[in-house]
Order: sequence, then C-alpha cells, then structure tokens
Amino acid sequence: MPESLEALWPALEEPDTMVYAGGTDVLVRLRSGSGQPQQLICLERLRELQGIEDHGDRVLIKAGTSHARILDDPIIQTRLPVLARAVKSLGSPPIRNMGTIGGNICSASPAGDTLPPLYVLQAEVALRSRTADRRLPIGDFIKGPGQTAIRPDEILTGIWIPKNPEFNRQHYEKVGQRKALAISIVSLAALIELTPAGMIEDIRLAWGSVGPTVVTAPEVEAVLRGRPLRLEVLKEAAEATRRAVSPIDDIRATADYRREVAGNLLYRLSLRVETSPEILPR
Ligand SMILES: Cc1cc2nc3c(=O)[nH]c(=O)nc-3n(C[C@H](O)[C@H](O)[C@H](O)COP(=O)(O)OP(=O)(O)OC[C@H]3O[C@@H](n4cnc5c(N)ncnc54)[C@H](O)[C@@H]3O)c2cc1C
Repeated sequence: MPESLEALWPALEEPDTMVYAGGTDVLVRLRSGSGQPQQLICLERLRELQGIEDHGDRVLIKAGTSHARILDDPIIQTRLPVLARAVKSLGSPPIRNMGTIGGNICSASPAGDTLPPLYVLQAEVALRSRTADRRLPIGDFIKGPGQTAIRPDEILTGIWIPKNPEFNRQHYEKVGQRKALAISIVSLAALIELTPAGMIEDIRLAWGSVGPTVVTAPEVEAVLRGRPLRLEVLKEAAEATRRAVSPIDDIRATADYRREVAGNLLYRLSLRVETSPEILPR
C-alpha cells in the first residue's frame, strides 16, 4: 500500500502488477477467476488521488474520490447535477463508499454510470507516469468494453470537468432491472440549453449500455437543435436514436428492448425538464 506517488512508481514497474482503488470491480473479477496478477497495489492511501477542487471554469475530481464523497459535494450538486444524479443511482451505499470514480472509468464498462455524464460534459482524464503527465478526452480514453488507453506504467490521477455554463438543464436517467443496486440496461445523460420559450438552443446526449462504449449521436442532437422541446419533436429524435445505437443481447435485456428504451428515454426529457424547473447558475 504505497503512501506516496514516489513509492508507487517502483512497485508499478514490477511485472504482472495490477492497481486497485475501492476494489469493488477488481475483487469481483478476481473471485470469478479471470486473471490472477502476481502483485496487487492498493491506491487508497495516496493523498494525491483524493478530493474535489474548484478551478473556476472547471472542476477536478481526483481519481480515488469515492462516489459517496462526490454525492456530498456542493460543487457537484450545484454545477454538475448530471453527474450527481448518475452517482446517486450507482450501486448501494456500501458500494458508493468503497467504489471510486477512477475505478468506474478504468473499468470501462458500457454500463458504467459515470461515463455518459462525463461524455456530455466533455471531461478529460489526467494520466501520470513516473516521467510524464498527459490528458485525454474521455471518449479517446475509453476504447471498448474493459479497454482503455492507459499504459502499464501509468495511473489515472483525476478527471477535469468543464462547468459548461452554456447549458442550463442537466438530466440523467437509468433503466435497470430493479430500482436499487441494478447495473443499467440503458442510461441517458443530457445537457440542454433551453430558452424561456422552450426552444432547444443546444443539446448534448450520451447513452450507456447500448454499444461497446458510450454512444453519442450528433444526428439525434441535430434533430432536436433549434426546435421546441415537445413530444412530436422528441418522437422524431427517438426514431433517429434507435437507428444510431447498436445494443447487444445479454442476461439483463435483449438488444430490441434496449433499442426501444434508448429512444423512449428521450420522451422523458420533456417531463423531467418541466417538473424540475431549476436553472443552473451561469
Ligand atoms: C454489487 C455491485 C454493484 C455495482 N453497481 C454498479 C452500478 O450500479 N453502476 C456502476 O457503474 N457500477 C457498479 N458497480 C461496479 C463498481 O462498483 C464501480 O465500477 C466502481 O466505481 C469501481 O470503483 P473501484 O474503486 O472499486 O474500482 P476497482 O475495483 O478498485 O478498480 C477497477 C478497475 O480500475 C482500475 N483502477 C482503479 N483506480 C485506478 C487508477 N487511479 N488508475 C489506474 N487504474 C485504476 C483497476 O486496475 C481496475 O482495472 C457495482 C459493483 C458491485 C460489486
């Protein structure tokens, strides 16, 4: 258990080494018999990986910050409610206490709850090795199910998230098999700039669990941009969504059901936006 980054680097150079933070994904994977690394390094004691910082136009969430701490944070609640709503729906209280945002990102599950919000927010991941720092847009970092662009000599140190003041509404919704503790069957994150007259001036959308990674669909956003947030417009966008996603059948749901729900989640945008009239601060 290294207590500083200086102590981490030599340990990371050992062959067949794996890092973990909360261990909620790693322990499940090891127990299921998929791989047995020679050395497991726990990142929990690295103070450099803890905390949330307000940097004016951006927020930095350090990789080892637990979901519970993210949920409690006033900056996240007021400036990034799309992320707060996603984290609120992630696992159970014990999982949110143990699990970290860095672990959720590095697991790169198509159902990872923090990912659709991070895509619409256009977050960047910060990576560090003994000799270099680099940053990547979240969409370039996630390569496929369980696959990322991280190198063996690197760790994820944090996530830089722009506050996106040009969007005044944020939304996240997840459909699972149960209300609590359910991995998503389909999820949707949305940022919307809505005029007082109810026109969609700008919009960003991202779906989880309907492709090998998070799905973004500029063609769906184009259907909605410049038009009123009304059911008939959303219906048109829902049809475009069903064409844009590429879900698979698995034990939780069929591809057809996922395709249907991915479109249907859009309808609720109008309801949610009307029933939650809060407008985000600029
Ligand atoms: C019962 C249960 C319910 C769950 N429900 C949900 C759910 O509803 N939604 C959801 O999205 N997830 C869910 N999960 C999955 C899991 O809890 C989350 O993905 C969690 O965020 C993982 O964080 P962690 O710190 O525990 O990751 P770990 O298990 O510690 O690590 C996960 C992966 O990330 C890597 N890693 C971790 N930190 C770093 C770092 N700083 N740098 C480089 N690599 C790193 C590890 O090497 C590993 O590959 C659930 C898990 C369980 C067991």
